[in-house]
Amino acid sequence: MEKVVIIGSGPAGLTSAIYTARAALGPLVVEGVQPGGQLTTTTVIENWPGFEDGIDGNKLMQDMRKQAEKVGARFDSGTIVKIEKKDGHFEIQREYDTPILAQTVIVATGAKALTLPLPNVAKLMGYGVSTCAVCDGFFYKNKVVVVVGGGDSAMEEAMYLSKMASQVTLIHRRDKFRASKSMQERVLANPKIKILYSTELLEMKANDQGLYAIVIQNLAGEKTEMPLDGLFMAIGHQPNTDFVKGLVELDDKGYILTNNGTHTNVPGIFAAGDVEDKLYRQAVTAAGRGCQAALQLEKYIEGHV
Ligand code: NAP
Repeated sequence: MEKVVIIGSGPAGLTSAIYTARAALGPLVVEGVQPGGQLTTTTVIENWPGFEDGIDGNKLMQDMRKQAEKVGARFDSGTIVKIEKKDGHFEIQREYDTPILAQTVIVATGAKALTLPLPNVAKLMGYGVSTCAVCDGFFYKNKVVVVVGGGDSAMEEAMYLSKMASQVTLIHRRDKFRASKSMQERVLANPKIKILYSTELLEMKANDQGLYAIVIQNLAGEKTEMPLDGLFMAIGHQPNTDFVKGLVELDDKGYILTNNGTHTNVPGIFAAGDVEDKLYRQAVTAAGRGCQAALQLEKYIEGHV
């Protein structure tokens, strides 16, 4: 029986691992299919305090993992499919492995990229459609790409792609971006990025090779077919909570509902980071929640909830 199992290895999961390990609780961290979480698909992080010139997302997560290991956290990997409450403990069921039994659990599974509700999105993923410029941008060297979205992710994707693609068009459904001012300014100042405001993407056109064009529509209702090589969807995220449905209380968008800090409705299960935060969703806020979950879990184990 494990005392503490932390599911997820982004900033929330790894911070709770560092804190619970230092509290001599011997946490086991279960990493999913993307160890390190979403920060491993970004480039330089400029808003993580302490790094004047920013820090590479992958490096930050690798260092955090090493730090957690150094203070005593153990690591395992696998996809968790369900958590069941048993008599006085939890059974954490894995896809291809035996279940892990745990006294307490911190859910820090983050969120994944949303895609536009268009036919064939899943089929075209990797064949002209992507949700990650850092992962797939390489394939679009000197090619024509389009980014959809108006948040920080869309700005970041467009900036990244502008370094390799021959042309980047950023399409946003409204006439204002929701991204932070500094990210917007960088995009607006980039001569390689063309912006189409108040434009919707209606259709994707594909052949045997994959995506070759999209159909867009402006405010006046005019439709245009736009040839392209790659389409990057950056329209927000969805929390990874399928495996706790029916046990832990979720809101209408699937985020875990927390109360009094990081407690869930199930005593002994805590949640931290993007899996329960639809408002801030920053690396630094996720790390803060990971710390809070660890401290609250420690109190819970000691019997002071
Ligand atoms: P977001 O802020 O929720 O923005 C999503 C964007 O996609 C919005 O502009 C939204 O349009 C658009 N959108 C949503 N559904 C759409 C649809 N069906 N069709 C067309 N457009 C659609 O998501 P995000 O950009 O992924 O950012 C998530 C969080 O991570 C934010 O808190 C952000 O600050 C943070 N983040 C930070 C950094 C950084 O600091 N380096 C980088 C990336 C993300 P509307 O504006 O019209 O709603």
